[in-house]
Amino acid sequence: MIRQSAFTENAYMLKGGLHCHTTRSDGKGTPEAVIALHEENGYDFLALTDHRIYNFKNYLPSSRLTIIPGMEMDWNIAPKHPIHCFHIVFLGREKPNNPYEQDQRFEGGIEISGQEELQPYLDQAHADGQLTFYCHPQWSSTFVREFECLQGNFAMELWNSGSVRGFNIDTNNGFLWDELLMQGKRVYGVAVDDGHSMEDHCHGWVRVRAENNVDSILAALKEGSFYASSGPEIYDFYIDDDGFGHVECSPCREIRFVCATRAMRRLFDESGSMTSGMMPTAVNEFFPYLRAEVTDAQGHTAWTNPIFLHDEK
Ligand SMILES: [Zn+2]
Ligand SMILES: [Zn+2]
Repeated sequence: MIRQSAFTENAYMLKGGLHCHTTRSDGKGTPEAVIALHEENGYDFLALTDHRIYNFKNYLPSSRLTIIPGMEMDWNIAPKHPIHCFHIVFLGREKPNNPYEQDQRFEGGIEISGQEELQPYLDQAHADGQLTFYCHPQWSSTFVREFECLQGNFAMELWNSGSVRGFNIDTNNGFLWDELLMQGKRVYGVAVDDGHSMEDHCHGWVRVRAENNVDSILAALKEGSFYASSGPEIYDFYIDDDGFGHVECSPCREIRFVCATRAMRRLFDESGSMTSGMMPTAVNEFFPYLRAEVTDAQGHTAWTNPIFLHDEK
C-alpha cells in the first residue's frame, strides 16, 4: 500500500491560509480584522503575505492563530507587463532562523525577460530559507511553458479565491499542474484566497498534517503532507496492494482519479452523497503519479497531492 503522506496518521489536520492581503499593502481589511475573520472560520494558521513587505507579527495577540512569516513578491515580464508577470509567495521560519526583518520592504515590479531571469531571485529566497510557491498562473497570463523550468517552488496555486471571485479564473489549475507533474517535477498544489476585499477571504485553504507551530507546518508543506480545498474534506487517499486508488471524503458529487491531463476514472453521484471512491483500473508502470480531486454538490473542489510512482527526474 502507498498512502499519500497527508494521511499517514488519522490525526486532526490543521486548516491554514497561505496567501492574503491586508491594509499593510493593498488589502481592504486591517491585519487584526483579517486574523479575526480566519479565526472565526476555523483556521489554525495564516500567512499575511502583503506585497513586498515581510511579516512575522500576530497583530491580534488574543488570537490562537499561528502566523506563518511571509510576503508576496512580483516581477514584470517585458514587454507586456503588468498583465504578464510572475508572483511568488515566500514563507519562512520565525526569528532568529530567518534573515528578513519585520516590515522589511523589497523592490517589486522588476522587469525581467522570463523565467530564466526569475530563477536567481528564487535561488536567493531559498538560500534565505524561504519556501516559495507559484501564484495564480491564469491571472498572471503565464502558460506552463513560461514557468515550467523554475526550480525550487514547493507548490503552485490550483485555486485562488480572489481570481475566482473577480474573474472566474484560477478555478482549477490542475491541468497546468499535470503538465509539470508529467515532466517528473515534484510540485504540490495549494488552494489560497489571495484575499484583498474582506469577502475574498476564507474560500480556499490547505489542510496540513502537522503540529501547530511554524516549523512543523513548514516541514509538512515541504513534504507534501497536506491537501488543498475550496470546500470538501478529504480523509484518506492511497493505492492498495493491488494497485487500485482509494479516496475517502466528505459528501461529494464527483471523484476524479487523475494521472496525466485526463481523469483516469470519474465517479459521479447526482445526489452528492458519495463519501468514498475506488479507481477500478489498477495503476501500472506507465503511471508517473496518481492524484485525486473531489467536487461537492455546490461545485467546490478539493485536491490531494500526488502519490509519485517513479523517482524524480
Ligand atoms: Zn499576486
Ligand atoms: Zn496576492
